[in-house]
Amino acid sequence: MTAVDLQENIRRVKENIAAAAREAGRDPGEVTLVAATKTQTDETIRAAIAAGVTVCGENRVQELVAHLDHDAYGTAGLHFIGHLQTNKVKYVVGRVDLIESVDSLRLLEAIEVRAAGLDRVQDILLQVNIGREETKSGVPPEEAEALAQKALELSHVRLRGLMAIPPAARSAGSGHFFREMKQLFVDIKQKIDDNKSDFNCLSMGMSGDYPDAVRAGATHVRVGSAIFGPRLPKGVAGDMTSFLGGY
Ligand SMILES: *Cc1c(COP(=O)(O)O)cnc(C)c1O
Repeated sequence: MTAVDLQENIRRVKENIAAAAREAGRDPGEVTLVAATKTQTDETIRAAIAAGVTVCGENRVQELVAHLDHDAYGTAGLHFIGHLQTNKVKYVVGRVDLIESVDSLRLLEAIEVRAAGLDRVQDILLQVNIGREETKSGVPPEEAEALAQKALELSHVRLRGLMAIPPAARSAGSGHFFREMKQLFVDIKQKIDDNKSDFNCLSMGMSGDYPDAVRAGATHVRVGSAIFGPRLPKGVAGDMTSFLGGY
């Protein structure tokens, strides 16, 4: 570890989360910090956990598998937060606590099949493309409820809520996207909620905008660079994606 003071960064992020929660009249304990660990080494992940990270979020299958092989996450919780191809479902289902990024019926069904084969129930979130961006994964907001209803029909998938990556904060900020997500979350919860109190996770907010997300009602924020510092560009020595392959 070099210049990055993980302990200080994590302390500050948690403090900002707590302050934003209190501003919104929320209990800071309702918000979980998910450390987005992409491109980080086993050692850095272990150090972050020692410094107070309780949940890690991985968005690349090959990194997830490598870190699991090296037992880098220890007892920390583990979420998959990246785009998941159906042919890679087998590397993820049953190995993470929550798959945050389910964005199609096809993926949902592949997770169900794999979880059934393992005799497990996989917790999932549906990813919503709240900004309707062509470059981003996620179902359009108006299709989220139908996919939620499908998820509820499956016995090896437990629908826990919604996730979103809004457009990068512009001058106006991402606040209105977060508020739209919160409204969608409440609407869907109301429609599906016959004692389904399992539907209680709203994952949104990253390094640039997590206080706004918390103020709007996020239960999970996914923070990378504010904890670990800026990421190396892909392919630079030290980026493990350049030598790992095959997944
Ligand atoms: C990398 C990543 C984050 C965190 O991004 P930062 O801007 O570094 O905080 C959050 N969510 C997802 C899905 C990511 O891939």
